[in-house]
Amino acid sequence: MSTDASRKPIPSNPEINELEEAPEIEVLDTGDRPTLELPPIRLHDAAPMSEYQRYIKQLEEHHGWTGVNLIENCFLMGEEVGELFKAVRKVKGFYDQADAPEEERAELVANVGEEIVDVLNYLLAIANRLDIDVERAFIEKNTKNLSRSWKA
Ligand SMILES: [Mg+2]
Repeated sequence: MSTDASRKPIPSNPEINELEEAPEIEVLDTGDRPTLELPPIRLHDAAPMSEYQRYIKQLEEHHGWTGVNLIENCFLMGEEVGELFKAVRKVKGFYDQADAPEEERAELVANVGEEIVDVLNYLLAIANRLDIDVERAFIEKNTKNLSRSWKA
């Protein structure tokens, strides 16, 4: 295990710091070789999507995954989408069983949450490789969608 002295703080987005003191994301200073020790995740409660994208970029650098190309990331995300659907199917199965124990519900739903994060991580990794600002794209696309007419 590394000590706190080996942790190298990464500066936060200055625009965020102007709004409120935001905790900095920290990654371990691992030199040339990534270790199995994961960096602590410290995101501001109201962190913008750019902070999530920055965290994923740092995480990939930490693990040495930056060489995983765009197409490989798409396939890896596809695998995680499959895992997400399986987790959802298990929750659905739970609800279909009238006598299913209630204690299992939280665990199954939590598993869906984990798989959503796996998908999101790859989605952000894909966006990062294309220099897409997901927050901006989200706003622009949903603004465009507002002017669309949706047929039933
Ligand atoms: Mg998964």
